[in-house]
Amino acid sequence: MTKLLITGGAGFLGSHLCDRLLADSHEVLCVDNFFTGSRGNIRHLLNNPDFELMRHDVTFPLYVEVERIYNLACPASPIHYQHDPVQTTKTSVHGAINLLGLAKRLGARILQASTSEVYGDPDVHPQVENYWGHVNPIGPRSCYDEGKRCAETLFFDYHRQVNLEIKVMRIFNTYGPRMHPNDGRVVSNFIVQALKGEPITIYGDGSQTRSFCYVDDLIDGMVRLMESPAEVTGPVNIGNPGEFSMIELADLVLRIVGGPSKLVFLPLPQDDPKQRRPDISLATKTLGWEPKVTLEDGLKPTVAYFKEVLS
Ligand code: NAD
Ligand code: UDP
Ligand code: UDP
Repeated sequence: MTKLLITGGAGFLGSHLCDRLLADSHEVLCVDNFFTGSRGNIRHLLNNPDFELMRHDVTFPLYVEVERIYNLACPASPIHYQHDPVQTTKTSVHGAINLLGLAKRLGARILQASTSEVYGDPDVHPQVENYWGHVNPIGPRSCYDEGKRCAETLFFDYHRQVNLEIKVMRIFNTYGPRMHPNDGRVVSNFIVQALKGEPITIYGDGSQTRSFCYVDDLIDGMVRLMESPAEVTGPVNIGNPGEFSMIELADLVLRIVGGPSKLVFLPLPQDDPKQRRPDISLATKTLGWEPKVTLEDGLKPTVAYFKEVLS
């Protein structure tokens, strides 16, 4: 049994990670300030003797005793991370410094939930880990993109300077049960709109593409990366290479949900990446990982979850 810290553990991905690590018989300390996460996501764990919940903001120092640290704390959807952009950068940067300091004191291995946003609006497609990205440093998405880039820098500098065991994971768009219904992300928006019979909001002409990974596949990749040999630092892309335009996604959601919704076209947000698809050959080679769940198969339990949330 290992004692693990998960920051952002009451969020969408964090709560699934708590489930998985408890099922693997570990002790889990979940740290969250509940900015976007909720007790509801982890309520089923509160009576588990191997689970501990601590309300704490990672921009402040944290003194606990653990053997592994998963750093997921950070709002992930554009609506949430742009709500208080200064706090978003602080969460990524000060949060990384505090957790790296903690890992250094404990000699603990630490994993960073980084993002495909470090590639910005990419001019290399699909995105490979050695591509440095095309990021606007002063736009509305920059608090998130540059915060995450700086966190990666800190991880690699702690690795070089004090030999810390680090794992940097670049997560591509992930979906599944426990997504926030109002986070404005495309999968949750389209499903909620279809379930309510409201218009499906396509930003721009809907030709921009994304690759969508089901949460169970993502969590499996995250745990494999954490437990990989010490020399595997990443960055490693984890995502599903299936690439869909937003029009294709809307059609698929409508086919699964049914109902009368029509498509409406709204302006494209500033700096919205035109295309995104992970090259996952590094993950396949070093972790033996590849996603198993197709978009259609993953959307079904996700739709069932949103039906319950809306009922
Ligand atoms: P989420 O918003 O559901 O979870 C983030 C969690 O962090 C929430 O529980 C929130 O309350 C908590 N948090 C935010 N600021 C905090 C702070 N200062 N101190 C402590 N806790 C704080 O988002 P998610 O989708 O579960 O994302 C988890 C991580 O994965 C994030 O770091 C995100 O950047 C990364 N990521 C997610 C995706 C995706 O598609 N979901 C893609 C790329 C990267
Ligand atoms: N830190 C923490 N918990 C610890 C150890 C350190 O939160 O158990 C924080 C502390 O706030 C410090 C930061 O991590 O500022 C970076 O720590 P490090 O030891 O790298 O730097 P220093 O303390 O020398 O500034
Ligand atoms: N999008 C859309 N309609 C919506 C919400 C999002 O067409 O109701 C588009 C958005 O412009 C982007 C894509 O879907 O091109 C993915 O958006 P999301 O916010 O989910 O993720 P990110 O842009 O961070 O990859």
